[in-house]
Amino acid sequence: MIPYRGRFAPSPSGALHFGSLVAAVGSYLDARAHAGQWLVRIEDLDPPRTRPGAAGQILAELEAYGLEWDGPVLQQSLRFDVYAEAIDQLTRSKSLRECCCSRSALARLPENQSRPTGTGEELFHPAECLAVDGALSPGHALRLRVPAGVIAFDDRSLGPQSIDVAASAGDFVLRRRDGLYAYQLAVVVDDAAQGISDVVRGSDLLSSTARQVLLQHALGLPSVRYLHLPLAVDDRGLKLSKSGAAAAIGGRGGMARQLVAVLEFLGQSPPAALARAPTRAIWDWAHEHWRVEGFAGCAARAAPQVAC
Ligand code: GLU
Repeated sequence: MIPYRGRFAPSPSGALHFGSLVAAVGSYLDARAHAGQWLVRIEDLDPPRTRPGAAGQILAELEAYGLEWDGPVLQQSLRFDVYAEAIDQLTRSKSLRECCCSRSALARLPENQSRPTGTGEELFHPAECLAVDGALSPGHALRLRVPAGVIAFDDRSLGPQSIDVAASAGDFVLRRRDGLYAYQLAVVVDDAAQGISDVVRGSDLLSSTARQVLLQHALGLPSVRYLHLPLAVDDRGLKLSKSGAAAAIGGRGGMARQLVAVLEFLGQSPPAALARAPTRAIWDWAHEHWRVEGFAGCAARAAPQVAC
């Protein structure tokens, strides 16, 4: 059997919040329950969305909560040459096609044109994407040619999934017009480079998983197992986000309560007294009692209001 290797891969767009703590704790406990390793990767691919100091803050918070990772922290902004090699490989296998449309131009296109799939033109530039004088806008994105049909994979919590990527996303971007690499490419390349066997993360990424399975096939990379955790949503049903208004976690006094709230959120049924116990005792209890059945089948759940 392949040894278990999990990871937590935050984007440093802000401080951790309850939802990201759920992903960190869930991936950590699942790795430890399998006597596996747990790695951390900072997904700072997109400079405009990276908040200075956020990566250091996230790592300090993980440490403060007692989330101890294995090995060096991987930083995506230092790996552009590796992503370029993956693009070269996909170019050689004719798996990519160029697209000159800006995101806003694509958004204006009718549905059937904005989600083009890989059978047609090398260069995708419908009239709506041309400048007034008929010239192509500068720069082009590289998209993966997506075959028709559904992508099937198993999720350990949500069961068998089949997602039609061609219909829902179409040929998706791997390198943007501004030259930056897309999350989908970097995450697949890095999960393979780090020898990840198990991806445990929020169920908002379920549709991305189908794209990533396709990309693993296109790059000849090994498959991984997936476990999508319930997504923590606010009272309007919207995902908590680091860059949005979600309350940042933290504050030494509140740590035990936050951890216990995460365990409750994940259906682990911690005893109430645990919220007054030292962090070490919470982890001991959580390691011993980790069970996926506590949240199996649950895709989203309201985040509790936890005061720090
Ligand atoms: N970087 C992504 C985020 O912070 C998570 C990616 C993943 O776990 O695959 O939402």
